Amino acid sequence: MEKRYDVVIIGGGPAGYSAALYCVRAGFSTLVLEMLSAGGQMSTTTQVDNYPGFEDGIDGFELAEKMQAGAERFGAVSEFAEVTGLQLASSPKIISTSSGDVEARTVVLATGAAPRKLELADEEELIGRGVAYCATCDGMYYKDKVVAVAGGGNSAAADALTLSKICKKVYLVHRRDSLRAGKGYLDALTQAKNIEFVWNAQIDRLLHEEKLTGLALTDRVTGKQTTLACDGVFVAIGRVPNTALLDGQLALDAQGYIEADESTRTSLPGVFAAGDVRTKPLRQIVTAAADGAVASKYIEEYLQRQQ
Ligand code: NAP
Repeated sequence: MEKRYDVVIIGGGPAGYSAALYCVRAGFSTLVLEMLSAGGQMSTTTQVDNYPGFEDGIDGFELAEKMQAGAERFGAVSEFAEVTGLQLASSPKIISTSSGDVEARTVVLATGAAPRKLELADEEELIGRGVAYCATCDGMYYKDKVVAVAGGGNSAAADALTLSKICKKVYLVHRRDSLRAGKGYLDALTQAKNIEFVWNAQIDRLLHEEKLTGLALTDRVTGKQTTLACDGVFVAIGRVPNTALLDGQLALDAQGYIEADESTRTSLPGVFAAGDVRTKPLRQIVTAAADGAVASKYIEEYLQRQQ
């Protein structure tokens, strides 16, 4: 084995780089493993207005770069590699990556969550050709066009409002007859002139040639089948935690998030879960960053006991 660290952090989003900053400042050798670039989901948001300290807001990608640079200033190491396997119960813990194995005394899982898919035929192939998962990132490609938003929660409501400012028409397609979204969103949605609700609608198929042309729907109350012509569908039906790598090694909650309380400690000693991948009531950049700091406190406690 060539590489050995006190702390290996998997995932370079706000939770990961906050954990890195605190761990490296506490004197631990610290590696952050990230697949593509720093920032995770945050880096796909053009305007972050709810992370304190930036009175005019900040681009998510820029914030990610600043978090990375802030941790590296004190000696955190970043490596861009795909994690292919984990042995979390062993001592040391082994992380297999596309560029070799790494040994770790402690591991922080900060892998975040990914958008839930509709799981329809051709969905994957149509990404970028009518199927999208991020209104803030891709909305501009649908300027003055007709789009649908699938979902009924706060994300769907927020996406519909974002898109209503860019697109000619926005259909909010929901499988039930009421939204989960908060009242503030409901009022704004009903006031927007170009948003139309499509209730009780199950999306059966994505209609397309080379690009998406519409949705085939079934009314879940009447059973009536219809088609809805649109240039794009923004899927906002929740998120799925990125835990596939764990392969049953850690306890998960009913939704598949890693079971860990505010201490970020998981069911295995020396393994911590920070950010969106952890069971928690509010998944935001600021709460992910807070998790990273808390993780460092319990990492320190754990490593002191190991000496
Ligand atoms: P969510 O609240 O879990 O809502 C998911 C929505 O998608 C629900 O309406 C659900 O329908 C629908 N859905 C789930 N699976 C579906 C499927 N296979 N086909 C069709 N529809 C499906 O998820 P979210 O909106 O992404 O929000 C996640 C969390 O972030 C929530 O806690 C939310 O409050 C928070 N958030 C907050 C803000 C904010 O500004 N405060 C903004 C965005 C997100 P049912 O209603 O029938 O279950």
